[in-house]
Amino acid sequence: MDRYQAFANSGVGRFVVGKLGLPSPYPLRRHSPTRPPLDGPVLLGGGGRLVGPLRAVLGAAGLDVASEPARAEERYGALVFDATGIDSVEGLRGLRAFFQPVIRSLGPCGRVVVLGTPPELTGSTDERIAQRALEGFTRSVGKELRRGGTAQLVHVAPGAEDAVESTLRFLLSGRSAYVSGQVVRVGPAEVEAPRDWDRPLDGRVALVTGASRGIGAAIAEVLGRDGAHVVCLDVPAQGEELSQVANRVRGSALQLDVTAADAPARIVEHLTGRHGGVDVVVHNAGITRDRTLARMDADRWDAVVAVNLASQQRVNEALLAEGGGVGALRPNGRIVGVSSIAGIAGNVGQTNYATTKAGVIGMVDALSERLAGRATVNAVAPGFIETAMTAAVPLLIREAGRRMNSASQGGLPVDVAETIAWFAHPASSGVNGNVVRVCGQSLLGA
Ligand code: NAD
Repeated sequence: MDRYQAFANSGVGRFVVGKLGLPSPYPLRRHSPTRPPLDGPVLLGGGGRLVGPLRAVLGAAGLDVASEPARAEERYGALVFDATGIDSVEGLRGLRAFFQPVIRSLGPCGRVVVLGTPPELTGSTDERIAQRALEGFTRSVGKELRRGGTAQLVHVAPGAEDAVESTLRFLLSGRSAYVSGQVVRVGPAEVEAPRDWDRPLDGRVALVTGASRGIGAAIAEVLGRDGAHVVCLDVPAQGEELSQVANRVRGSALQLDVTAADAPARIVEHLTGRHGGVDVVVHNAGITRDRTLARMDADRWDAVVAVNLASQQRVNEALLAEGGGVGALRPNGRIVGVSSIAGIAGNVGQTNYATTKAGVIGMVDALSERLAGRATVNAVAPGFIETAMTAAVPLLIREAGRRMNSASQGGLPVDVAETIAWFAHPASSGVNGNVVRVCGQSLLGA
């Protein structure tokens, strides 16, 4: 908890914050293996092609499902609405009719999930307009929710009704604590349900770059917790910290600079030689070298492009090289990029960084199409995450970054890691080509 958050949640602080209308950062409920995914039942509403599958998925995930509004004192853990049946502007009335009477009964850190059809896959003009309208509704709900609540829209393509389980388990739990106001797409896919939902990556191998600290270390920990053998990669100068992380997650360390000319070949050799291939590749290594454009020297520009974008592209091509298959990346593999909200919204002093982070989104677009059906490619776009990188930001800018989002606080590395673990999940084969922001619904960008 940062200092302002601790103050705002103290007795005096709550009073002062309320009186002055200051941001009120609620302590977010995160995943814990000893607690249920949500504090309270799920109220399921709406009516379309997803209601049946949803009931089954929510039950399998161990969530209590209610279909009738409960007693006034009952607190819901989540409100889930199947909006796929809305095919006209008039039908949008159903949103207000369901949510308005119950929104105040959503408990702390509650979840709102609206499920719709991707607008471009609808059957008529009326339906397309209505389905597109869901986005404005959901994003506004996210901004209105207090006390750590989140709201998302999930676009489920026709035929993907059975591919939503891993996504709903992620969104309806503390794993998505710092994800809000997002539109997620799930497409039709052959879904491989894990034998054990607590260790979905058992028997799989993951590579995480920049794993010695910060977000990368958290990704290694979460993928290791989920059962993967994690190959933790970082520069030789970070060797000691890297070994500590690798030991902690019972993985292995690979010391290497991803920008080195022989890096792609060495990575492929290591993964195929020691592990027979790789299932999950997370391109997390990244640097900033901020200067406004007028003062941007070529070294700063080149260094950022080399680490944050060019290396990923070269490593991907090396991993994918080999006939018509997916090379060292095994079938149903995962590639995950780490973008940034700077790559979506742009940022002063970060023309170099934002260029690379938008390029990561281009990588997702291109590769997700190229590898469709064989592997998935997605990215996270973190907002303000509490790490060494953001601790170096000047105080005032740091405070603005922390507060300018619906959660009024910075996220933790684990929030980014949990989102990546959802992409990495073997049952997430239908989650392809997504860029999901982990930013507490930051005011920056869309
Ligand atoms: P960090 O600086 O704490 O960690 C980055 C890691 O990458 C370090 O361990 C570093 O040694 C490693 N690395 C750098 N260059 C490398 C190279 N050439 N080869 C191998 N490893 C290399 O940063 P972080 O805050 O944990 O950020 C991780 C990722 O998240 C980065 O891609 C960053 O751009 C992105 N991101 C962070 C934030 C945030 O708020 N912290 C926000 C948006 C995006």
